[in-house]
Amino acid sequence: MGREKSHEIFARAQQLMPGGVNSPARAFGAVGGEPVIMQRGAGAYLYDVDGNKYIDYIGSWGPMILGHAHPKVTEAINAAVRQGTSFGAPTEAENTLAELIIEAVPSVEKVRLVNSGTEATMSAIRLARGYTGRDVIVKFAGNYHGHVDSLLVAAGSAAATLGVPNSPGVTAGTTKDTLVLAYNDVPGLEAAFAEHGSKIAGVILEPIVGNMGTVVASPEFLKALRELTQKHGSVLIFDEVMTGFRVAYGGAQSLNGITPDLTTHGKIVGGGMPIGAYGGKAEIMDHVIPVGQVFQAGTLSGNPIATAAGIATLTTLRDEDPYPRLEQLSDRLARGLVEAATAVGLPHTLTRVSSMLTLFFNGEQVTSWDSASKCDTAKFGKYFWGLIDRGVYLPCSQYEALFVSAAHTEADIDATVEATKAVLAGL
Ligand SMILES: *Cc1c(COP(=O)(O)O)cnc(C)c1O
Repeated sequence: MGREKSHEIFARAQQLMPGGVNSPARAFGAVGGEPVIMQRGAGAYLYDVDGNKYIDYIGSWGPMILGHAHPKVTEAINAAVRQGTSFGAPTEAENTLAELIIEAVPSVEKVRLVNSGTEATMSAIRLARGYTGRDVIVKFAGNYHGHVDSLLVAAGSAAATLGVPNSPGVTAGTTKDTLVLAYNDVPGLEAAFAEHGSKIAGVILEPIVGNMGTVVASPEFLKALRELTQKHGSVLIFDEVMTGFRVAYGGAQSLNGITPDLTTHGKIVGGGMPIGAYGGKAEIMDHVIPVGQVFQAGTLSGNPIATAAGIATLTTLRDEDPYPRLEQLSDRLARGLVEAATAVGLPHTLTRVSSMLTLFFNGEQVTSWDSASKCDTAKFGKYFWGLIDRGVYLPCSQYEALFVSAAHTEADIDATVEATKAVLAGL
């Protein structure tokens, strides 16, 4: 399949934007080669500028759970845009979206809308610190919470190290109060609380990780997190920017039965428009300005177009309940991928929760960044390009989750499995 136009456009883009992209995950750095320039999406498919069609498993990195250009979402956006794009004043639709989130998500009693997942986690962390009057934030290696300065931290060699910046431009001062621990490591967590407990403002985690590939938190780990934070008066923050309304309508916390103090959202709650949200216990949320003292603001927060897209997406999910179908389709895909990998003797592990899944090119069980990082990423890169050439658009990194949408069909899934078999056999 030809990609000449993509190549020309990307050549120009590289002169205009750093790396030719507005977000690094799109640059195909992890698989080599150039990104495909997309023109439009419809349902489960993307069409590039050269006219090639792809079965899409990125779904804009999560938001498009209903598929691209879903009629209800498109209609809602069209209706909203005719009324004006931004007022900088309260609207009734903000109540509607807030109510939908509060009704769905067990931990959320009050919510604030922002413009991205990054803004949501940044604000939740500030609130945890402002609420507790403490400085230290605990995060876990391999979890991603957006490009928040204080969370762009690399874990040191010791099990529990105070963070060092992992991006130039992030000061040591900014990260010195961030503690990086290993995911699913209960003794490590206990040790950190034993040593720093009275200084820990909050713990932030992906309750099901998507950002090192799909990795599931053990029940023991979640239980320890809830007990230790409660015991030490620290705020437990679930970052559900990816898992919210994805793994279930009520997010990961509705599956695992652990209720955090604060929850962050993004992606699906904006239905493909830029949005984020942070919410939780009213008692904590009321520390946010203008009731409380913790500052947080946004010119475009609660934007009418984003709010309309979010409402249309959440009400469709609530009313049509595609989750059982997503489970079936995703299970079918997972079984097919495992069968394909097994047939060629590829060492692999498949992790899946609902419509989020990852085929790790790694024979070991993947429970943390340590085990995830042992994947054969070179082989994954070849697999990725093999699938692109067969019209299947997978996340362009081993360390990203693949998403199935409600628009996918069994035929799409079977075609993806067949393509995988063909590609893996040739590796
Ligand atoms: C995508 C993501 C973010 C960041 O959201 P943006 O809208 O890209 O800023 C934060 N946390 C998690 C878990 C995410 O998956």
